[in-house]
Amino acid sequence: MDYLLTDEQKMLKEMVEKFALDKIKPIARENDKTEEFPTKLIKELSDLGLMGIPYPEEYGGSGMDNISYVIAIEAISRYCAATGVIVSAHTSLCVEPIYLFGTEEQKKKYMPDLCSGRKIGCHCLTESQAGSDAAAVKTSAKLEGDKWVLNGTKLFITNAAQADIAIVFAATEPAARSRGITAFIVEKDTPGYCIGKLEEKLGIKASSTAEVVLEDCAIPKENQLGELNKGFKVAMITLDGGRIGIAAQALGIAKGSIEDSIAYAKERVQFGRPIAEFQGIKWYLAEMETEYQAAWLLTYRAALMKDQKLRYSKEAAMAKLKASEVAEFCASKAVQIHGGYGYTKEFDPERYFRDSKITQIYEGTSEIQREVIASNILKQ
Ligand SMILES: Cc1cc2nc3c(=O)[nH]c(=O)nc-3n(C[C@H](O)[C@H](O)[C@H](O)COP(=O)(O)OP(=O)(O)OC[C@H]3O[C@@H](n4cnc5c(N)ncnc54)[C@H](O)[C@@H]3O)c2cc1C
Repeated sequence: MDYLLTDEQKMLKEMVEKFALDKIKPIARENDKTEEFPTKLIKELSDLGLMGIPYPEEYGGSGMDNISYVIAIEAISRYCAATGVIVSAHTSLCVEPIYLFGTEEQKKKYMPDLCSGRKIGCHCLTESQAGSDAAAVKTSAKLEGDKWVLNGTKLFITNAAQADIAIVFAATEPAARSRGITAFIVEKDTPGYCIGKLEEKLGIKASSTAEVVLEDCAIPKENQLGELNKGFKVAMITLDGGRIGIAAQALGIAKGSIEDSIAYAKERVQFGRPIAEFQGIKWYLAEMETEYQAAWLLTYRAALMKDQKLRYSKEAAMAKLKASEVAEFCASKAVQIHGGYGYTKEFDPERYFRDSKITQIYEGTSEIQREVIASNILKQ
């Protein structure tokens, strides 16, 4: 479907796909095994300008659009979905709210280091009692003199262990729930900011997921991000964009599943013939490709609408819902097509299968995407 892309987007696609093949593919399986954060790889991606793709050059970004961002996240996730989410959480969940809601001073102070990858970002919304119900955050922020003092524990934070900059959501008027939350920019060296338990996960193992503990963490008053008590809106608008990134990650997993399955089906001989000649396998491949292309179109439409400054909340939810389910479907079928070998770590579909599941959970579960879609169509 490259015919839908501009020449610039095609060039970026070619560049990131080549980089992913040369540099990500050879280390992805090992990274999954060791669960090590790919520091060197992130530096190389930073050098290519891929840590701040859709932001203006004046803030250190690459000055490209959201379709380019989708292209890059898909190409990276084709070989390593863990690296895909590291870039996506950094870009969509940390840089984006600063770009959209930050003051000019905040943008100039934080965006160049983040967009260049000199600093890594994370996004701290979830807490033990506040998952899908994000308005239930209990982390508190109290104004004491010219400082906001934060207390609480954030859970399941992507990039937390490496992040230099965290976007933290805290209750500034707890009784008001979603109308009493404010967003803040917290620097990792602030006393009282520390990393708690690292999660052991099913997949995306090379990306870190950890608790962020805030104990009397005092930050300058000017680190409030956006308006007082309007942080829930900051979180929801940020997540709309983030969902496009996760849809792109899911597309990458689906694409890897399809490409590996085609190659294997042509090579593997049973009953004296390549298994690709059996109707059962051909139909699996046809369905995988059709589902992938449907998810691709939904994802690219959502990115296009974001680029055109249209409302895209429903479209982003549809893209994430569809692409994440397609990723799981394609990865499961890839394991099936690889037979017993697909169940082993000698072949990548085992990893794709484990990695695919998270795309249905973070940045709003599939059930929450359905809620978003339904509430949009019911109010029309
Ligand atoms: C690897 C990983 C990385 C993550 N990264 C981040 C991050 O960087 N920053 C961050 O803030 N959070 C992050 N999260 C948290 C993630 O966004 C939440 O786990 C997710 O939103 C679901 O919340 P929960 O786990 O509390 O599940 P719950 O909300 O408890 O949901 C449990 C089940 O109930 C369903 N459910 C809940 N409410 C409804 C409803 N109204 N209707 C129908 N079904 C419903 C859910 O869909 C789910 O199936 C991450 C999580 C993981 C596992």
